[in-house]
Amino acid sequence: MLASGRSFLRMSNDSQLVQTDFEGNSSVVSVVLPLALDEAYSYTVPRHMQLQIGDYVNVPLGPRLVVGVVWAVDVAAPKGMRLRDVRQKFELPPMGQTQRKLLDWIAKYYMAPLGMVLRGCMRAKGVFEPARMKVAYQLTDLRPERMTPQRARVIEIAQELPALKAKELADEAGVGVSVVKGLAEQGVFETVDLPPFTPFEKPDPNGMRVVLSSSQEKAALQLRQAVTARNFSVCLLDGVTGSGKTEVYFEAMAAALAGGKQVLLLLPEIALTNTFLRRVEERFAAAPAEWHSEMKPRERERVWRAIGAGEAKIVVGARSALFLPWQNLGLIVVDEEHEAAYKQSDGTSYHARDISVVYGSMGKFPIVLASATPSLESLVNVDRGKYKHVTLKNRHGRAVLPDIELLDMRANPPQSGTWLSDPLVTAVEETLAAGSQALLFLNRRGYAPLTLCRTCGHRLQCGDCSSWLVEHRFQRKLMCHHCGHSEPVPDKCPECGDEHSLVPCGPGIERLAEEAAERFEGADIVVLSSDVSRGVSLHQKIRDIAEGKYNLIIGTQLVAKGHHFPNLTLAGVVDADLALETSDPRAGERTWQLLAQVAGRAGRGEKPGRALIQTYMPDHPLLEALAAGDREGFLAHEKQIRQMANLPPYGQLAGIIVSGSDLNQTQSFANELARRVPRVPDIQVLGPAPAPLAQIRGRFRFRFLVRTTREQDIQGFIGAWLDGVSPRGSLKLSVDVDPYSFL
Ligand code: ADP
Ligand code: ZN
Repeated sequence: MLASGRSFLRMSNDSQLVQTDFEGNSSVVSVVLPLALDEAYSYTVPRHMQLQIGDYVNVPLGPRLVVGVVWAVDVAAPKGMRLRDVRQKFELPPMGQTQRKLLDWIAKYYMAPLGMVLRGCMRAKGVFEPARMKVAYQLTDLRPERMTPQRARVIEIAQELPALKAKELADEAGVGVSVVKGLAEQGVFETVDLPPFTPFEKPDPNGMRVVLSSSQEKAALQLRQAVTARNFSVCLLDGVTGSGKTEVYFEAMAAALAGGKQVLLLLPEIALTNTFLRRVEERFAAAPAEWHSEMKPRERERVWRAIGAGEAKIVVGARSALFLPWQNLGLIVVDEEHEAAYKQSDGTSYHARDISVVYGSMGKFPIVLASATPSLESLVNVDRGKYKHVTLKNRHGRAVLPDIELLDMRANPPQSGTWLSDPLVTAVEETLAAGSQALLFLNRRGYAPLTLCRTCGHRLQCGDCSSWLVEHRFQRKLMCHHCGHSEPVPDKCPECGDEHSLVPCGPGIERLAEEAAERFEGADIVVLSSDVSRGVSLHQKIRDIAEGKYNLIIGTQLVAKGHHFPNLTLAGVVDADLALETSDPRAGERTWQLLAQVAGRAGRGEKPGRALIQTYMPDHPLLEALAAGDREGFLAHEKQIRQMANLPPYGQLAGIIVSGSDLNQTQSFANELARRVPRVPDIQVLGPAPAPLAQIRGRFRFRFLVRTTREQDIQGFIGAWLDGVSPRGSLKLSVDVDPYSFL
């Protein structure tokens, strides 16, 4: 979210209003455009057109046409300007009042241009394309005279998929559109009308229900009551892993569906697996609509239209599903509500859980937040009486929570170059011998986090960022985890030129897999991390694990996300100390959640589980509390720290980052901002300090942190501070309200 160039934006706003005499006899509407603009533009409505608030329209902007949304009608025309006409009205249900109110709120709260917020609502391009382009390419019996690999690929793909648009077909095959068009000219493809979208099946609230235990039934009853009250409320469904939270919130969804409402089930993107979707499908006897970043354009269009028409009833989606054109939303469930992945920080920053709550209060419907390790924010809202606390204390059926044991690495140091202590090795061996699955958790991608020259001590660093290059041995590359830069592993030190002197330092998940393969001969090992597998291959691996094709799982935080592996009985945490010492005020909470979630993977089936946690700091209060299963103790400690330091949820924070390609220029801009800080009691501005990641992609970065009490108007303060500031040249200013990243 950029606060840059405000004055520039105003200028471009004016320049599109052609300055001539205004005739004053047609009505004027203001239209918000999905661009980085603070203000709506005014347009005249042609006589034949009827517009209402919320209509999607095509309007001219300079030489091009842009799709926007009518935000106000019958507005006063700016004096002395001749406005341009709205060009086209789309035949779509208008954007509802609650949705527009929500967008206005987001723009104000997160200090983002309204247009950029609106943009998130229009991520289904097909909806706004002119109708004439909607032809699909269908394979005929003819084949090209000359077959090329590219052509062959297009034909192969076309044989498997329904008729697609040329562009989609080309994208699928990874070729240019001209390849498809060329084949069409030779008669290999014929154009047909795109087949109509397959309608969504109507879910059955009573599909396939399990018989709830009495404690589950009690929880379900509270959620059902919240739904049938048809009013705003927030329930925090707080239940240990495997307690049946999913089955319980399904009951709330069923109640909303029975009342004719639409339901949104939000998940962190990586938890949105096929296995989970199938579970929803079975429960409601109908496939839900999906919404996430990897969807094909036509499927996006299908979902967008069906939600807008009120036909699709359930969406299982990632955070951006909030911005679908909901007609009749009656419930949002936010699963794994503690997940930091709900905070979007590229582009417009927003927190999907927080926005859900705001949406519910505006639209007068209930919200269910579910987690085994709820965020401190939500727990404090329970303390404050704002959220209802619905708890599930035990695992379902015979499953019990795993025993958690700390392994003191000072007493059991592994041999140099290895990372598994003897007690953990023995535990893995026993688990595999018993025919069960074991998990080794290490939250570090790649082979080694650092590569060092044994001769001169040189460390391989990214040329554009202040971070070490991480070796990825599977891909034979060194990679920067901040800018994505990658390069081959050099065979000699770039500094001293010595050959074979570069050594990997520290473990990454690939190196751990190497050690495991040596130690546990015959184990079927699978590595789960976001760079090794994503999308389909990740889903496949997760299914294979659930079906028992592997018995040793080595994973990053990807494995901590709500998966249900019934045969997994041992969770080993290789390095619990990794995340404890950082400047992030939520580091302790996050470590707690992650370790508790990882431990919670074990013993979800018939067999009991255990968790072993390797640490050099067994006396750390957080780890002690974890081992003792003392959540209340940990939380009390954590609340006290936050309260004393006036940190969220007791105070408010905003991060302000100044960046630029020239160090001196960036620094003096930051200093200039520092001089302008308004003096207000109870508001502190820390900084400017070089950001912990002082350089990313060649840009130098300085941070300010604004800290206020809960009562203060933090946006008002920042707005006043930055008013009239316009970063020039390469300089950029970005504001992050409620930051989750402190890098
Ligand atoms: P959570 O969401 O709390 O981790 P789940 O709802 O996924 O827990 O439940 C864990 C497992 O136990 C799932 O396989 C689920 O189907 C099963 N389960 C939970 N409650 C019941 C029940 N009442 N009857 C049968 N199976 C249940
Ligand atoms: Zn980099």
